[in-house]
Amino acid sequence: MPLDVSRLPLVGGHPALDLVNTLERGAPPGGDPPHDFLSGSSALLRWTLRVGLMSDAEAERVDRAWRDDPAAAHAGLTAVREIREQLHLALLAAVHPTDGDPIAAGAALVALHERWSGAAARATLVLDRGDPPRIRLTYGTVPAMLIPDRIAEAALDVLRTADLTRVRRCPVAEGGCGWLFLDQSRNGSRRWCRMADCGTTAKARRLTERRRAARTATP
Ligand SMILES: [Zn+2]
Repeated sequence: MPLDVSRLPLVGGHPALDLVNTLERGAPPGGDPPHDFLSGSSALLRWTLRVGLMSDAEAERVDRAWRDDPAAAHAGLTAVREIREQLHLALLAAVHPTDGDPIAAGAALVALHERWSGAAARATLVLDRGDPPRIRLTYGTVPAMLIPDRIAEAALDVLRTADLTRVRRCPVAEGGCGWLFLDQSRNGSRRWCRMADCGTTAKARRLTERRRAARTATP
């Protein structure tokens, strides 16, 4: 049984990469549709809170706005799922030029820019009188749109500020799961999203294959 979104491993190293990893990746085409951990607006609300893109108080405001207007909740979930796939396309084309589709990636970037423009139009500049005082650009001032706006902001942030030479894809061809993560190891040698999971499974499978090959080779 698939994990609930509250127990989904967060391995991306950036909320926007963790967003990409809320959909099962790397399953062979033609099989069952991939499992979507963002199964509904309530799962999306819990996930956004868990990855730290909003506070508890903000989550309550979103929950209220979405209960009052289920169509807004549905639109928010649809927007987030679209951002997720656009970001996945754009990142794959950037980090795996041979796998990615440059035309689809270009269209995805246009769509991501549109999402971010809408979010920026709803953002406000706020004076924070702390010490030292700062002026902050705050996204998500409209509760019903807070989650897609924060996610559009996070997507733009990863595209503009992450070192794309350190974005990796857990290697599907070698038994990995296809999730994306930022390799923050000192020498840039991290290959698996979770060694304890994907890395070990792939190793065990290679061992079984080697044993089978050895058995068939024996006369
Ligand atoms: Zn993996």
